[in-house]
Amino acid sequence: MSAARRILIAGNWKMNGLQADGVALASAVADKLKAAGDAAFDMLVCPPYTIIGAVAGAASGSGLAVGAQDCHIAEKGAHTGDISTAMLADAGCSFIIVGHSERRTDHGESDGDVKAKAEAVNAAGLKAVICIGETEAERDSGDTLNVVKTQIAGSVPDDATAENTVVAYEPVWAIGTGRTPTNDEVQEVHAFIRSELAAKLGQDTADGVRLLYGGSMNPGNASELLALADVDGGLIGGASLKADDFWAIAESCP
Ligand code: PEP
Repeated sequence: MSAARRILIAGNWKMNGLQADGVALASAVADKLKAAGDAAFDMLVCPPYTIIGAVAGAASGSGLAVGAQDCHIAEKGAHTGDISTAMLADAGCSFIIVGHSERRTDHGESDGDVKAKAEAVNAAGLKAVICIGETEAERDSGDTLNVVKTQIAGSVPDDATAENTVVAYEPVWAIGTGRTPTNDEVQEVHAFIRSELAAKLGQDTADGVRLLYGGSMNPGNASELLALADVDGGLIGGASLKADDFWAIAESCP
């Protein structure tokens, strides 16, 4: 891993967390981060919208960053039920996940939708965590690299920078299943993603963009995954809901 890329350990809480348990979880992680002092990694939690403000309060002063799981592309207006990037920044977010496979599947989000959201995130001065990854059928038919190539071409803004963009490779079949690709498979895809980013954005930018692995990362497999040359952190679902597990993953950083 390039010295310029700090590891990012990011938790996606999905639709989990009421005020009290969300604040308790964030406070526990924040306390560990504060006690660790000058940690060699960055940490991020992405709670549901309703508790972002409370979680941001709990994280304040600890270095724990707070993010959202989605956003609308418009700044404001007649979009009932939606949330803008400005609102999320105002609530305390510095990152927004876009294009998670659950949004692509449940809400029919296309690569074009994801790119527009990432552009809106960046325009608001926030960092986009852009999710990509193949389904099990696509992996089985040998299409993984083609799928990822298409997703990068379609989902990553043409002016993305290393500062405002993080890419998370999340094989859909590994999310929440306890299954993961082999370390060699993860490294192969991550190296390929970096080469595609280099072709699209230039080598310097590609060398600086953090590439997270996501899909059943846990305290048992994190140290091997995080040691891979082109893995610069993790996007973690289930294991981010327990402070001890989430922290154990962070402590596995090489
Ligand atoms: C995710 O949904 O982004 C994810 C990686 O979930 P899990 O860690 O539970 O597989």
